Formats: sequence, C-alpha cells, structure tokens
Amino acid sequence: MPNALDNQVLVLNRLWQPVNICSARRALGLLFLNHAQVVGTFEDSLFSTHDFESWMSFEDGPEGWPVIHTVSDRFLLPSIIVLTAFDRLPRQEIKFSRENVLQRDGYICQYCGKRFENRDLNLDHVIPRDKGGVTSWENIVCSCIRCNTKKGNKLPLEAHMAPLRKPVAPRWRPLVDFNGEVRGEYHESWRLFLEPSASSVTLSA
Ligand SMILES: [Zn+2]
Repeated sequence: MPNALDNQVLVLNRLWQPVNICSARRALGLLFLNHAQVVGTFEDSLFSTHDFESWMSFEDGPEGWPVIHTVSDRFLLPSIIVLTAFDRLPRQEIKFSRENVLQRDGYICQYCGKRFENRDLNLDHVIPRDKGGVTSWENIVCSCIRCNTKKGNKLPLEAHMAPLRKPVAPRWRPLVDFNGEVRGEYHESWRLFLEPSASSVTLSA
C-alpha cells in the first residue's frame, strides 16, 4: 500500500503561484517549521490559510481525504501549501542529464531556434571540449544535428553561432505536468491553481 506521506502536495509561492510539487512528508516539515501554511481547499476553508496548529484542528475533510494517524492523534494531509518564508522551495539539485538539458531548453535548438524531436537533438558544448569547455549546465545546450555539425569544433565567435539563451543550471524543479502523475486522491483541488500550460516542463531531480 502506498504511503500517504508520499502523496504529492502542490506548493505555491508567496504570490500564490504554483512553483513546485513536494511530498506530503516535506510539506508537513515545512508547515511544522512555519515555512509554509496549508491552503484550505474544501468547504468553508476554501482559500483560507492555516498554520500547523490551525490545520491540526480540522478533524475531517471530504470523504476519502488522506489522514495520518499518530500514536495520539490523527490529522489530515494537506493538498496545497503556500510558502511563507521562501519564494520557492529550498534549492534541490537537478541531475545533469541529456533529458534534463533538453527539457531546460524546451527541445529548441539553441542556435536556429527551431523545435525538434528528442531523437533529432544533440548536446553541444558551447565552448568545445578541446578548447577547455567543460560538460556542465553552463556549457551544454541542445542543438539540432545540422547546427551541431555546422558549429563543429569552433568557438561561438568563430562560428558566429551563440546560444539563444545563456545556459544555466535550473534552479528549482519547475511545475511538473501533473496529468496522470499525481499520487493522492485530492488533486482536483489543484485545478484551482493550475492552468493548462504548454510550457510546463518536467525535470527529474
Ligand atoms: Zn539548429
């Protein structure tokens, strides 16, 4: 049986914009430390915010709402929290991988600006390796095969090809595409805050 503490919780920043998804376990930790408050998503509590104590006073949620039992108590798991202390979740390192670079760059060749399928993209060293370029978020961009070949081993200045966007490490995990991926039965409430967005990307930490 899946652990309810692994249920996903939508994280809003102080402007109530969705910025992340975390586990219920992490959400409770942030709540306990006063770094976040729970956003009410049912009945009279809609859009109200609750600190740890106030949230604990809720005895029941809608039917089927996930509950955690402790030795002496039971409490509802949050489905949405709003950060009070940070604008985003404390930094979580994103794994440097081909897939995550492609996602960071939106599957858009950083030289010609066209969008390609995964299989038609390469990773390009902006500063070529034999000129001291390292394999890192800051020196790797996604490139179509044609541009990759054209640029070859040249520096951006020599090739007159510079990346459209300065490559940087993603600083946090952008909102994941939640269709079919959400664990937990209450994600209907998320729809209040999520708009279908073609630009939402998934990066795996
Ligand atoms: Zn290209």
